[in-house]
Amino acid sequence: MSKPTLGIIGGGQLGSMLATAAKRLEIKTVVFSDDMDAPAQKFSDEFIFGKYDDQNKIDKLVSKTDVITFEFENIPYETLNQINKIKPVLPKPSINRIIQHRLAEKDFINKLNIRTTRYASVKNKSEMDTVQDLLPGLLKTVTLGYDGKGQHLINSIEDINELDIDFSRGYILEKLVKLKKEISIIITRFSDKKYEIYEPIENVHEDQILKNSRIPADINDKILKQSRLWAMKLTEELKYVGTLCVEFFIDRNENLYVNEIAPRVHNSGHLTINAYNISQFENHVRAVCGLEQIKLNKISNAKMINLIGSQINVYRNKQFNSNEFFFDYLKKEIKHKRKMGHLTTLF
Ligand code: AMP
Repeated sequence: MSKPTLGIIGGGQLGSMLATAAKRLEIKTVVFSDDMDAPAQKFSDEFIFGKYDDQNKIDKLVSKTDVITFEFENIPYETLNQINKIKPVLPKPSINRIIQHRLAEKDFINKLNIRTTRYASVKNKSEMDTVQDLLPGLLKTVTLGYDGKGQHLINSIEDINELDIDFSRGYILEKLVKLKKEISIIITRFSDKKYEIYEPIENVHEDQILKNSRIPADINDKILKQSRLWAMKLTEELKYVGTLCVEFFIDRNENLYVNEIAPRVHNSGHLTINAYNISQFENHVRAVCGLEQIKLNKISNAKMINLIGSQINVYRNKQFNSNEFFFDYLKKEIKHKRKMGHLTTLF
């Protein structure tokens, strides 16, 4: 059987790394992005530039590919659903719809008896009065927030008056967890009860942006087992196909909470490129293209640091040791708080 051509919606660094992994498997890729300068076009076989609701461009993508995936979750559900009627979109668009919406996502997780932070929907300013027991908390937009965007720390009800919040966007208030640590689990599901699961990754955030990740995570055995179990339960329940990331909080009393699910490859899993026989990207391509599942094998411990904004400059002219792997995302412009590249060090 000839290999399928893979469509990738979104053209950032995750798209680049998916396209690179696909190429190694001799799978052709077509990247579709609304950014004319999308870096992933440098790594894919073809590139389609257009808005995500542009019918002509959607038709073009569908005609050129056999299976379609995405590298970020905020693609209009209608677009994914429409494509899925003609060619398979994996993971399924219905999964994306749950996870795009912080309230629907948390309701889904809690129904499975998996712990999240306590939370409440907040539709207007006066509703804040009724949820004061969740303070201090983080007020987050229910959709379209990432890397701390659309998030406000609320210590007391008075803080609300000082912030100019447009409640028409829909908000969720989450109780602030006294964090000891953050970890994530990357898992690839191929089909019923068929997974490849990477060991938990320990993550450090700065200004709500991932700063660095490492394996092994310094966690106890109970947390290790529980996080793996929850990740498997979530993927199984979603009947997920592809790579998914579950982000967790561990509080100061060693309680584990699911923070959120990313229905895609994830920044914390970049170290899998060098630390495992098969990366999260290759596993995603294998799963969505129906290729063989290969047993994961860890090669080394690893640490990854994100290079944000102008931090990339120093690395562009640096000499690296044989255990260091530098990735430049080749973005057109250096911007403040923007992920520009990463460095993985094996140890
Ligand atoms: P998010 O975009 O919701 O994943 O949030 C980004 C980061 O903000 C997380 O990785 C945490 O470091 C921090 N954060 C978000 N929500 C909470 C919370 N409820 N309690 C404590 N820290 C949080």
